[in-house]
Order: sequence, then structure tokens, then C-alpha cells
Amino acid sequence: MKIPMLDLTEQYLTIKDEVLSKLDEVMSSSQFILGNHVKQVEDDIAEMSKTSHGIGVGNGSDAIHIALQAAGVGEGDEVITTSFTFFATAGSIMRANGTPVFVDIDPVTYNIDPSKIEAAITEKTKAIIPVHLYGQMADMDPIMEIAKKHNLHVIEDAAQAIGSTYKGKQVGEMSSAATYSFFPTKNLGAYGDGGMIVSNEDELAEQARVIRVHGSKPKYHHHVLGYNSRLDELQAAVLSVKLPHLSTWSENRRKHAMYYTEKLEGVVGDSVITPIEVEGNYHVFHQYTLRVDNRDELQAFLKEQGIATMIYYPIPLHLQPVFKDLGYKEGDLPETEKAAAQALSLPMFPELKQEQQDYVIEKIVEFYS
Ligand SMILES: *Cc1c(COP(=O)(O)O)cnc(C)c1O
Repeated sequence: MKIPMLDLTEQYLTIKDEVLSKLDEVMSSSQFILGNHVKQVEDDIAEMSKTSHGIGVGNGSDAIHIALQAAGVGEGDEVITTSFTFFATAGSIMRANGTPVFVDIDPVTYNIDPSKIEAAITEKTKAIIPVHLYGQMADMDPIMEIAKKHNLHVIEDAAQAIGSTYKGKQVGEMSSAATYSFFPTKNLGAYGDGGMIVSNEDELAEQARVIRVHGSKPKYHHHVLGYNSRLDELQAAVLSVKLPHLSTWSENRRKHAMYYTEKLEGVVGDSVITPIEVEGNYHVFHQYTLRVDNRDELQAFLKEQGIATMIYYPIPLHLQPVFKDLGYKEGDLPETEKAAAQALSLPMFPELKQEQQDYVIEKIVEFYS
């Protein structure tokens, strides 16, 4: 049996006719830039996020960059975040002329450890970016409390967590802004790049809207340095077809996650630690990530059996060569470094079949027995 990490084609086949007719609608109308589909999907995703604004941008990385700039983060400002994330989180801080300050993770959720944030705050700190890794929101209550106390912006990197909730609160509802990615493999993936900022702050949203069109307002008048980073109309049309399915797809991911956990938990002793959904959280399982002994050997073994797995992320950001001037060294963030050595993500997508899961489970058990 061959089992991929995810299968986008299978999902496409279930919505193909609707997608093609929407794309035809866009091309027939010749409204290619910031048309009705972008407006509609901005409104729909803002509503889902319980925010008053949605700003469609070119990709999830630009969403972080633009949200930071719109919040007033710039030269010399420090932004506290996690090192156990995709490059773009810190890359976007640097592109906004800020300096990333990395804080260690909570070993259970892999998200930023709120109890370690205050020690990292300095006079220069301007914002905190919690990353909702693998589809589970970070512990927002203490993060928001610290932010209020020190007058900091909180920008949620929700690239992996669209549709997740925390104590009944949506992504974007509590913070200055949240950012989504519609990279094709994300839970709500376009057929190309795309991203969005959602926010309840009128001024931040207005700034973001101006920044995505070259900082132009009114037209041909430029008071701020902007970029060309808009959500593409064709991608917005694709998203408008997919969005109504998102909650069902999330539910399916959760079912698959529970099935993996039920079958793997305890079966191989302490060698395999299954992911935990913290009480009060609705985890959307962008990834189903185990913490395992002999990770690289297990991955090689599963590959031989036709099972794809991925390591998110093998090298934490504080040890990336491009960030060496920030002055971090091995040992600075022990929980992050440990997770980077042990994390292994299994095949996960809404259309995953039980017999595929059974095969993955059987081979993992075989490896440890
Ligand atoms: C995917 C991702 C991004 C970047 O999104 P793009 O749309 O690929 O630019 C940022 N942060 C995290 C945590 C991601 O997973």
C-alpha cells in the first residue's frame, strides 16, 4: 500500500464542477484584481473569525508581515515568538524590520510557553506572535494578559489553524489580528498562493488594506511603503467553493486523529507519545504529530513500507544559519530542540481512509515490537 501525507486530487474531484464554473465566472467577468469574490470571501472568513475585517493578501507570509507593519512594528522593535514553527513566522518579522525574540515551547502542545514570555520582554518589545502549531491554538488567556500588562500587540499566526477555537473563542477574536495561509496544503487551501489578515481593529485593518496595494491612498498618493500583495480573484473563487466544506473537513480530520490516538496510545509503551487536545480547545489537526523514540529510523522504516511522513520542523528557527546574527546557540531552547528531534507527522487529510490508517498503525507497532 502507498499512503501519501495528503491527497489534494481526491478532494478536488468532490468539488470539481463547482470550482470550474466559479473559475469560468471570474474569467468571463474579467474582474481579476480585488473583485467580488475577494470581497465575499473576506467577509465570510471575517465573520467566521468573529472579526469585523478580513483583508485578503498574496500569501500567509505576507499576511504576517503586513499585519506587523499595520500594527506599527518597525525598525528596532522586538517581536516575541516561537522557534518551533515554519520559517515564515520569523522571516516576516525580519522583513517588517523587527527582531524576532524566541521563547521556548510547552512540550505538550508544542506552542509558545506563556510562562516564559515575560522574561523575554524588554523596552523594545512591541508584539507577540503565538503560532497555533499543527492546528491547536496557543494558550491565549495568559498571552493576552501579558500583552495587556505590557501594552503589546498580539498577532496570531493561524496559518495551520483556520477553524480552531480556544475556550469558545475563534482565531482572531481576542488579539490585534490573526493571519491565515491558503497555501494548497493548508486546511483551507487555494489552488495557488493566498493569505488573509482578520482583525477587530479598524485602524490596523485600514492600514493593512493600504499596504497591500503599494501603500496607495488615495490612488497614486503614497504615505506608507506598501507592496503588491493581494489575494488573487481566481483563488478567492476557489476558496468560496471550499469554505462551506471546511467544518466537515475539520471534523473528518478530528475523527482520523482520534482513531490514530485510540490505536497507538499505550500500544508501544513510552516510545510513542500521541498529540493532546488541551481541554477547552478545538484542535483542527492540520498535522497529526507524534513524539517518538528513534524518529529517523522509524521514518525510514515507514518509507520502505510506502508510508509518507514529514518532520515539522527538523531545525528550529533559532538555529537557522540566516538568523545566526541574532546570537542563539544550541541548548538555548531545550524543549524546542527536543521536539525538533522527536516530532513525526503522519498522513492526515479529510479523505484519509480507515484501511490506510490501519496500515500506518500496524507498521508503527511492528517497528517498535
Ligand atoms: C504555511 C505557514 C506560513 C506561511 O504561509 P504561506 O502562505 O506559505 O506564505 C506561516 N506560518 C506558518 C506556521 C505556516 O505553517
